[in-house]
Amino acid sequence: MSLRPTLDFLLYDWLEAEKLNGRERFADHSRETFDAVLDTCERIAREKYAPFNRTVDIEEPRFDGEKVILPQATHDANRAYAESGMLSAAQDYEEGGMQLPYTIEAAANGFFGLASVSMGSSLLTKGNANLLLVHGTQAQKAVFARNEFAGRFSGTMCLSEPQAGSSLSDISTRAVPDGDDFESDPLGPRYRLKGNKMWISAGDHELTENIVHLVLAKIPGPDGKIIPGTRGISLFIVPKKMVDAKGQLTGERNDVALAGLNHKLGWRGTTNTLLNFGEGKFSLRADQGGGLDGRGAGAIGYLVGQPHQGLRCMFHMMNEARIGVGTAAVMLGLAGYYASLAYAKDRPQGRLPVESKSRDGVPAVAKDAAQPQVRIIEHADVRRMLLAQKSYCEGALALELYCARLVDEQHTGAPQAADEARLLLEVLTPIAKSWPSEFCLEANSMAIQIHGGYGYTRDFPVEQYWRDNRLNMIHEGTHGIQATDLLGRKVLMENGRGLQLLAGRVNATIERALVLPELAVHANALAGALAQVRAATRAAWATGSAGEALANAVPYMQAFGHTVLAWIWLDVSLTALQLPATSARRAGCLGAATYFFHYELPKVAAWLQVVSSRDPTCAALPEEAF
Ligand SMILES: Cc1cc2nc3c(=O)[nH]c(=O)nc-3n(C[C@H](O)[C@H](O)[C@H](O)COP(=O)(O)OP(=O)(O)OC[C@H]3O[C@@H](n4cnc5c(N)ncnc54)[C@H](O)[C@@H]3O)c2cc1C
Repeated sequence: MSLRPTLDFLLYDWLEAEKLNGRERFADHSRETFDAVLDTCERIAREKYAPFNRTVDIEEPRFDGEKVILPQATHDANRAYAESGMLSAAQDYEEGGMQLPYTIEAAANGFFGLASVSMGSSLLTKGNANLLLVHGTQAQKAVFARNEFAGRFSGTMCLSEPQAGSSLSDISTRAVPDGDDFESDPLGPRYRLKGNKMWISAGDHELTENIVHLVLAKIPGPDGKIIPGTRGISLFIVPKKMVDAKGQLTGERNDVALAGLNHKLGWRGTTNTLLNFGEGKFSLRADQGGGLDGRGAGAIGYLVGQPHQGLRCMFHMMNEARIGVGTAAVMLGLAGYYASLAYAKDRPQGRLPVESKSRDGVPAVAKDAAQPQVRIIEHADVRRMLLAQKSYCEGALALELYCARLVDEQHTGAPQAADEARLLLEVLTPIAKSWPSEFCLEANSMAIQIHGGYGYTRDFPVEQYWRDNRLNMIHEGTHGIQATDLLGRKVLMENGRGLQLLAGRVNATIERALVLPELAVHANALAGALAQVRAATRAAWATGSAGEALANAVPYMQAFGHTVLAWIWLDVSLTALQLPATSARRAGCLGAATYFFHYELPKVAAWLQVVSSRDPTCAALPEEAF
């Protein structure tokens, strides 16, 4: 089954996305308009992205000393995406948008992840512009955000530094007011920035007229000292090329220099850069706010929001960014699943064991070499790997769409429903980001395994899917950091109300499933897993020691994630049971759900064992013993 029918089933049958049209904001929409968006994205992805996925992997970005060079296909794909209107699809009509529900936008963008995940940087551009719509001034919105939505400019997120990745409180980029009149600039309070930003995706290229960097930096206090920790961090717009108050390029380069391109394992269609801010490579004219000859070196940056509120502004768009990362991981997982399914249906190899013969009472396996070979999809172990991929990837797709639907609920639901959606998203976001990053990557590994030796070569696409997917456990908060966020913050916040809310939703599904003979056993198994997760959460924190509780945060997140996925599969199965008994979709859903409950859910108990006992094996081993 390909992606589109799966999306249609999950969106319309399971999530009842059409009902969103009852909301005032989406009143002009209908199933037809949603389908038109899905059709357009599917077509552009098929024509402009998929044929070039290998090209962008082989023709890595390169720097000729002046410009970054990308394959022509990336330029064409980028243009087609911008012309489709998808950059601003979710925005208000007044902003030139379509007021499309995020649920549909997220689903439609899935086609690009499936076709060629690294060719577009639209996630960053949209996140950047969305942030400015919320925290920027009118001028910042008009000059930067609108031009990003229009595809004229693109955006980056500059958080990480060579010495500060997970620990953003330790960034050392500095921002100082640019002259006495720094507050009178039409584009916002003007500062001079100096520092280095590492790993910046889409940090330099010629795909758009300009690049809008959103940069975290610290403003020294009146005593010249930096406020330690994340409280001292502020957010700045630092354009690559200077613009006037109407958004026109002035012809001046801002002092942002490409120090180098990073050469990555995968995801090579997007540049990844080390950027130097304010090193003096590009000096600015005096009437551009000074320069080397005027008020000193430094890249010009315009403050966004209030000083020292930078991380708060950044985190505003984290939920959607993390759903985006999770969805990318899902799409790569699905790409591998579809490729290995096709291969397994085609590749003849070996024969099935025939009836065992007993020799001296000992069972023996026999094979009839005179028979033709079978296709590998007929081997039980290959079917195990296919079903594992299907249960991971289609289950995770359903989870991402469920979270996207919560985003719409948060923005357009009645007050109580909106608040519940907000809190549920707090708890589910680490799972939406991290679970697919780990298990859809595992799916890619199985896709390679199904291809045997061929999977390990570049003649087949599955090794690239694995390499591309390996990024997702690292960026947007590493696996370990997400796990700490879940057990150390999310399940505790508001006196554990988020966890209770989630448990309420899981229990509602269990109750519906308990009365159905096909699902009652699964429902009981899920109730058991949920009880174990709740007990383990209490046990982890029983001594109140963060060190003890968080030492096993990753096994906790794995168990929590598996419980969430089992819930999603049970809920999806309730919908699948409405399909005709002969439906392949129904059989596929119930088969994948059964796989998940039989082969995966039992792992929860083992993961939670070390959490509940606050097992010190890893934390306590002396360093010299490693
Ligand atoms: C291809 C790519 C694209 C990226 N794009 C961007 C971008 O556009 N913008 C941007 O700002 N950044 C970007 N990043 C940076 C990315 O967010 C960081 O790599 C990530 O935050 C981890 O930081 P680090 O690499 O310094 O690793 P470190 O923080 O040094 O972590 C190394 C290891 O130690 C673990 N660790 C660290 N601290 C803790 C802790 N407190 N508790 C438990 N474990 C811990 C981590 O989990 C990890 O396993 C990108 C990275 C890559 C590889």
